Amino acid sequence: MAAAVAVPVDRLDTLTGPYAPIVYGAGALLAAVFHRSRVVLAVVALGLLDLGAPGSGNLFVALGAFHVGLFGALANTRDRGVRSRAGLLQFGIGAALITLVGAVLQDPVALATFGDARLLPDGWSAWSRLPDVVLVGGVVSLLLGVLAVHRFRGPVERGLLWSQALVFVALHPSVGEYRSSFLLMAAGLVLTLSVLEQSYFMAYRDELTRLPARRALMRDLAEASGVYTIAMVDVDHFKKFNDTHGHDVGDQVLQLVATRLATSRVGSAYRYGGEEFTLVFAGLAREDAVAPADEVRQAVEEATFSLRSWRRPRKRPSGAKDAKPKPKKRARTLSVTVSIGLADSSAGDGSPEAILKKADQALYRAKENGRNRVSV
Ligand code: GH3
Ligand code: MG
Ligand code: MG
Repeated sequence: MAAAVAVPVDRLDTLTGPYAPIVYGAGALLAAVFHRSRVVLAVVALGLLDLGAPGSGNLFVALGAFHVGLFGALANTRDRGVRSRAGLLQFGIGAALITLVGAVLQDPVALATFGDARLLPDGWSAWSRLPDVVLVGGVVSLLLGVLAVHRFRGPVERGLLWSQALVFVALHPSVGEYRSSFLLMAAGLVLTLSVLEQSYFMAYRDELTRLPARRALMRDLAEASGVYTIAMVDVDHFKKFNDTHGHDVGDQVLQLVATRLATSRVGSAYRYGGEEFTLVFAGLAREDAVAPADEVRQAVEEATFSLRSWRRPRKRPSGAKDAKPKPKKRARTLSVTVSIGLADSSAGDGSPEAILKKADQALYRAKENGRNRVSV
């Protein structure tokens, strides 16, 4: 958006003309290679809009508004792959909708009805030259986009939201044809970059706990300088949770522990692997990290953890309405504890591997000495 404002219009023309097909083509291809079916659809749709419509007045406004809505809807669905049946279906529905809307709006009467429909009280839309349908639909669609970002917190959802905003701005008649084209191209670029960001995100983030993964830990340790302490955190008797309650309860326990570790204001939490986590205390020597590490240990110990889906159907079974209410059982809770081993950057030769090894040895001592404790 900043570039669209800063670059003179006559220069924009030289950018959008030759590069637009490359942006859309490469974007769609990249998204297809990474199996991001929603992005393929969105970028192709943007390309069609850009190559066909800017400068066509109300038709462009109507089509663009439809795109803002399409992106809001896409943000609330999942990627289905590009060769799977579900992916093809998603693509087919999208293509059918685009064709249908395009065909209907070719009819001048339909277009005029669209532009003249009054949805807002007089004066409300006076500040904008966009039709009421576009304003109302646009705001609802943008809210859908915000909802998706909130629900899924992924780069593609954020990319779709930014693209919605760019297209929405591009619709405004005062933006002009070249600036509109430029904004659409920027939207295509944002979507393409979101595909790359998603891959990075997937490589460095643990899916179950949403903590940074081991790869992120090794990256951050390679960049670390000065004094720091590493805490290896291991869940006590974790096998027991899996064996008695099942693997999904085990997963919930890991999520709980991760949430508690992430609340530490002093250390950064990572999932090292399995039921092991790592905290990095930057700027702290081993002795100074004992207290914050013990705070984390206590936070886990004090967390009451009620089982979400433990032999308790989410929905009341049909016909149960008339049944007598059963006496309420106490919510089942589990207690979880962790053992923690510490080592700092003065350990061994000071390499991350050496420090991790030392911390692991300290962790072993914590286990030996009875668990639920911090060892140095
Ligand atoms: P200790 O107190 O000595 O650490 O006992 P422990 O039972 O926690 O130790 P052990 O290393 O024997 O058990 C770890 C178990 O963690 C084994 C494996 O089945 C389970 N596990 C590892 N990763 C996951 C996971 O992602 N989800 C679940 N549910 N279980 C996991
Ligand atoms: Mg272990
Ligand atoms: Mg363990």
